[in-house]
Amino acid sequence: MDLCNISVIKSLMADAGITFRKEYGQNFLTNRMIPEDIADMCTDDPESLIIEIGPGIGCLTAELASRYRKVVAIEIDRGLIPVLDKTLAEFDNVTVINEDVMKIDLHELVGKYSDGMPVSVCANLPYYITTPILMYLLESGVSFSSITVMVQNEVASRLVAKAGSSDYGAITAILGFYGTAKKLFKVSAGCFLPAPKVDSAVVRIDLYKKPLYKPRDEKLFRNTIKAAFEMRRKTLQNALSAKLGFDKELITSAILSIGHQADVRGERLSTEDFVKLSDYLEKNKNNI
Ligand code: SAM
Repeated sequence: MDLCNISVIKSLMADAGITFRKEYGQNFLTNRMIPEDIADMCTDDPESLIIEIGPGIGCLTAELASRYRKVVAIEIDRGLIPVLDKTLAEFDNVTVINEDVMKIDLHELVGKYSDGMPVSVCANLPYYITTPILMYLLESGVSFSSITVMVQNEVASRLVAKAGSSDYGAITAILGFYGTAKKLFKVSAGCFLPAPKVDSAVVRIDLYKKPLYKPRDEKLFRNTIKAAFEMRRKTLQNALSAKLGFDKELITSAILSIGHQADVRGERLSTEDFVKLSDYLEKNKNNI
């Protein structure tokens, strides 16, 4: 069964008595090569456990199941579960869970299914909740080998942006704390049913096996990034003193200590710069 064939998708859904649910970001792939390519590129280890978010009718799930040892697919829409039972019936290495991924304890899930296997995430993400899902995965503390996601092309550009470019934002600086991101390929809006308004792209994030950075105060490090980008139009100095309440003199000396000009804007700072900056603030906060 070609799960990317438009007639097949429509008849599977009609048989189950369901329609596309916009509120769940349901845009299903209609070009067979795309799930094949995503599944090929999502990790190098065939012995992996793959966690898929939002299997839809299972087109990517089937490609993953035929390449990797185990697939656990999490789908929020109860109406799709009987469809998945049918389309994935030939695979004995797939478990489908009917749940909102944001409510899943990922540690527990991985503990239950990984059996020592390396774990990766692979998903054509629903657009309405892309960033929260990415943050949920990254902040879960689970040591994923990689996270491969299809997102809006504009979001993909942000994930892979370099410090100082217009696409660089809080998500880029935070992501740099966990790993490195690479845009794999673009996918045009016409490859989905229904077609979204914008093009998409597939991004693979390779997570650091051991943390590269160890901020003295991780909460302050995150808040520093948040503050820097929430007030993008302000200089970093003004944004940090307004949002974090630090003395301007302390902020200036922190910025100078990491080798930037006092009037620098937040988007010029790399992840490493933010770690050093927040470390300086934490270390010297009582000295002024
Ligand atoms: N994987 C399929 C494909 O590539 O054709 C469908 C991808 S579609 C863009 C997103 C899928 O995520 C839908 O099946 C939707 O029901 C599901 N979804 C949306 N929100 C979810 C959530 N919070 N947790 C789990 N699945 C979710």
